[in-house]
Amino acid sequence: MLGNATLNSDTASHSTAPADASFLPGPVLLLGAPGVGKGTQAQLLVSRYGIPQISTGDLLRANIARGTEIGLKAKEIISSGRLVDDALVNAMVLTRLQEPDTARGYILDGYPRTLDQAMFLDRTLAELSLPPALPVVAVNIIVAYEELLRRITGRRICPSCKSIYNIYTNAPRLDALCDLESAALIQRPDDTEEVFRERMKTFEQQTAPVIHHYRGLGRFEEVNGDQPVEAVLAAIESTLLKLRAAGR
Ligand SMILES: [Zn+2]
Repeated sequence: MLGNATLNSDTASHSTAPADASFLPGPVLLLGAPGVGKGTQAQLLVSRYGIPQISTGDLLRANIARGTEIGLKAKEIISSGRLVDDALVNAMVLTRLQEPDTARGYILDGYPRTLDQAMFLDRTLAELSLPPALPVVAVNIIVAYEELLRRITGRRICPSCKSIYNIYTNAPRLDALCDLESAALIQRPDDTEEVFRERMKTFEQQTAPVIHHYRGLGRFEEVNGDQPVEAVLAAIESTLLKLRAAGR
């Protein structure tokens, strides 16, 4: 998970200074194109604030595994080749938001994905005033297209020890061989410009209405993701402080 090229050797050195206990992060929608390091930042925010990450993918898998009512419905929909609709996803998230670990906030990952979901979530949080009784704020991690392309198409993986390299930023000592046991590095079939371009297009199409929604409400900010992991984390934190200080 922390094997991203941008992390290199300093994955262990990020300082987890004690979070300000009086700061309520509240519901945070973390956005970012493929390769910006969203997963890494989500994990760091989770440990910094002691709040859960809520991902619809994980929730769906958990509901199916536990055989909940929602899980059974979802399983039926998925096995018939259809897509799980907004109503089911909304119901699943709503159930999750009522668990006690969300009282100080949570990191939303992959939800809300559509304008309808965003409006449902806003309405529901306002109506139920679930703790921490704060609205969703959205933070988009921005990295230039060319840089993302280098991060993804430069990625090489050791099939033996799973070490991750990047031929541009974190090259192995010997060309195409792992530093540890000299296994021939491989490139994942999805780490091509073509696949990346498609994923970017999908991301932009899906995210645009959601961003527009939160921007219009003054609950959206962008942070520069083209800097060291700790600097991105610091930028997200100061952005959250700013958004919440503004009464959002
Ligand atoms: Zn290796």
